[in-house]
Amino acid sequence: MAQTTNRDYYKILGITAKTPKQDIKKKYRELAKKYHPDTNQGSKEAEDKFKIVSEAYEVLSNALKRKEYDRQRSYKTQSPPRPSGGRPAWDREPPGGFGRRPPPGGNEQYYQEPFAAEPEPVDPNMPTSGFDLQFIIDVPLPIVALGGVIPYSYEKYVKCKDCDGSGIQGDDECSVCQGKQLIVRSVTLNVKIPPGVANQYTLSIIKEGGEGKNGGPPGQLFLKINTLPHPKFKRVKNDIISEVTISRKLADEGGTLEVETLNGSKTIQVEEGTLIGEELLIPGEGAAISWGKKRGALIIKFNIEEND
Ligand SMILES: [Zn+2]
Repeated sequence: MAQTTNRDYYKILGITAKTPKQDIKKKYRELAKKYHPDTNQGSKEAEDKFKIVSEAYEVLSNALKRKEYDRQRSYKTQSPPRPSGGRPAWDREPPGGFGRRPPPGGNEQYYQEPFAAEPEPVDPNMPTSGFDLQFIIDVPLPIVALGGVIPYSYEKYVKCKDCDGSGIQGDDECSVCQGKQLIVRSVTLNVKIPPGVANQYTLSIIKEGGEGKNGGPPGQLFLKINTLPHPKFKRVKNDIISEVTISRKLADEGGTLEVETLNGSKTIQVEEGTLIGEELLIPGEGAAISWGKKRGALIIKFNIEEND
């Protein structure tokens, strides 16, 4: 549904953002009649215009399509370049919609219902809640495993300071937000990563989405965790696996060895006659279990240097 267009549907239908619904319909009927192929002896130009008018009406008469169209349009006209921090993801999917698959043989209709149920805005002064935003957040493996706080920058609608969110300056429309009451700005949030959170898990952060209009509540922010690969560690559920290369001498004779852990280092005992691929388990040095304090194991997997 998220087709992008550069056409100004408002201009095409000769309406403004504040034109009531029934008048939009009236305008469309007038234009559709004017350009209808039946009344234009098959004129190509009229046919094209008829198509564009129909397209414009289809979008502006549907609350959800219109909201999306307005959003894309305002991004096109106001949005500064995206900061490197915020990675735009599937931000056009409905909230909670990602990662959900229709059940086998299930009916499509069920999944489309949230769209149809969206209330249609009737009054431009009605309080409207802000947009929900969905992004992917890259998190280093040690923070995913043990929890922590990382800053995350993203863009969202905030209240226009120049008109204090009224959209008006004096008798005119506010020139900064063009009467939209809101502007797009980059913000930075300190995001709390729960210890041992699953990769691809989506954090829901309430009220950190786009600002609402006319006193409406802000939207939600959904951040999907993407664990960054680590040069030394690999996570398997609650365990952390680390491959360590030791000398032939240490493998044959045994001895102590300092190994890197998620949050420091530890001295381990290498057994005499250690073989390549052998594993040593260090309990309590893995990833946190179920967002709690208990931790899985660190598993050291030995590689042995060949003598030369
Ligand atoms: Zn303003």
